[in-house]
Amino acid sequence: MIVIKFGGTSVGDADRVANAVAIVAKRQHLRPIVVVSALAGVTNELIAATEAAKAGNLGGVNKILDGVLMRHENVATRLVQQKFDFYENFLTKLHNELAAAKTILQGICLLREITPRAKDKVVAIGEKLSSVLFAHSMMIRALASEAVECELIETDDRFGDANPNMEATRRNAHDVLLPLVERHVIPVMGGFIGRTEDGATTTLGRGGSDYSAAIIGAAVGADEIQIWTDVDGMMTADPRLIPGARVIDRISYVEAAELAWFGAKVLHPKTIAPAVAQRIPVRVLNTHNVASAGTLITQEGDTRDSAGPRAVAVKRGITVVHMTSNKMLGAHGFLARLFAIFEELEVSVDLITTSEVSVSVTIDEKHNLQQLIERLKPVADVEVRENQCIVAIVGRNLMRDSMVGAKIFEAMRGIPTSMFSLGTSGLNLSIVADDADADRCVRAIHAALFEAPVGAVS
Ligand code: ADP
Ligand code: ASP
Ligand code: MG
Repeated sequence: MIVIKFGGTSVGDADRVANAVAIVAKRQHLRPIVVVSALAGVTNELIAATEAAKAGNLGGVNKILDGVLMRHENVATRLVQQKFDFYENFLTKLHNELAAAKTILQGICLLREITPRAKDKVVAIGEKLSSVLFAHSMMIRALASEAVECELIETDDRFGDANPNMEATRRNAHDVLLPLVERHVIPVMGGFIGRTEDGATTTLGRGGSDYSAAIIGAAVGADEIQIWTDVDGMMTADPRLIPGARVIDRISYVEAAELAWFGAKVLHPKTIAPAVAQRIPVRVLNTHNVASAGTLITQEGDTRDSAGPRAVAVKRGITVVHMTSNKMLGAHGFLARLFAIFEELEVSVDLITTSEVSVSVTIDEKHNLQQLIERLKPVADVEVRENQCIVAIVGRNLMRDSMVGAKIFEAMRGIPTSMFSLGTSGLNLSIVADDADADRCVRAIHAALFEAPVGAVS
């Protein structure tokens, strides 16, 4: 059994859906379970509709929902028009879902307030529609398929960033998916969405369909999780920024997770975790270039000695919190007191550097900074630097060859930086710089490490 996940651009229009259906058809013998994202851009539109509602702009809401309706109608007309019943069925679903969204959004327009719960209900519509459309597109091509319209991924109630309950999800997946697969019917489900134990719709965070695919893969014990996207695999850098970036043919779970966490959007940061637990290989493949072998992500990764640095990624919108206190000198328990505050406010930290009297950490900008500063003040002097980025060089035994570090520091010459961090695992060397310098840093480091041979590493 394999899980095949298609991202938004891979199902962006009728031709792309048809192409994706052909990819599934070729892999029928592998007993696929299909996970799809919303059509490209639809989640953004739905979020825009919630923003318009919050601003009390009902005209804006209606305009956006009409656009979403037309977009799906057009794709459906081209894909399933030959079979009237599929088309009718889809249109009924489309109108019902959008009517339900409109009711919620009208309420928000009146209240000028939106709860995370209501927002999730609206943004989940994109995947609810694309999965039905995809299943119908398979059926009219005589592929036995069924849209799974109940949410299989049970989650907590952290709306907008929900966490799966793997045990409950495993039961749901076994009950619903396995009987279909046994009957040679290909299940198609929407990614990104879950539901709480009491039935409220949740979402797993932006880009979360990758994570859904991995959760489902782990739940059914799949042999492989395939993430089909719009690039040839995980690359040495984001190809949008570095057109000459190269595909990485093999990489380990830890390296891939690190890259995803530090900004390689090609995978949602949490995707790797469910796969690791069961050692399920994850393959990143290109729907626009089916012939390409993609990237294979496994426990071992690339075991060649030459592996060294693998890629450079950048995470933007970072805040550095610098805490100083003389009480730190020779004292113990100081860091524990500081970090207890981070824990209590549920603020997660990416990088840490310390000296005898100070500690600096990076946090995501989305956290409530003012509250954090107020709580830290009695314990330490706090200095904050916003609009920063983390440039992360990820690989294996990064510092075994001292030339790697030398090249990185040389590449950064003239670019102001505020933190460096390298763990003993040699997995990640991170540099904090101004957000405005992010592209410049990535270009310089990519050129130094991947566009010229790296000393003894090559
Ligand atoms: P999907 O809609 O298929 O989920 P995404 O847009 O979420 O696709 O992810 C694919 C994009 O990730 C690529 O188009 C690319 O610009 C970006 N990306 C960022 N870093 C990397 C990287 N290291 N390797 C490959 N792609 C990357
Ligand atoms: N449609 C969702 C988003 O745009 C999930 C995904 O595409 O993975 O964030
Ligand atoms: Mg994505």
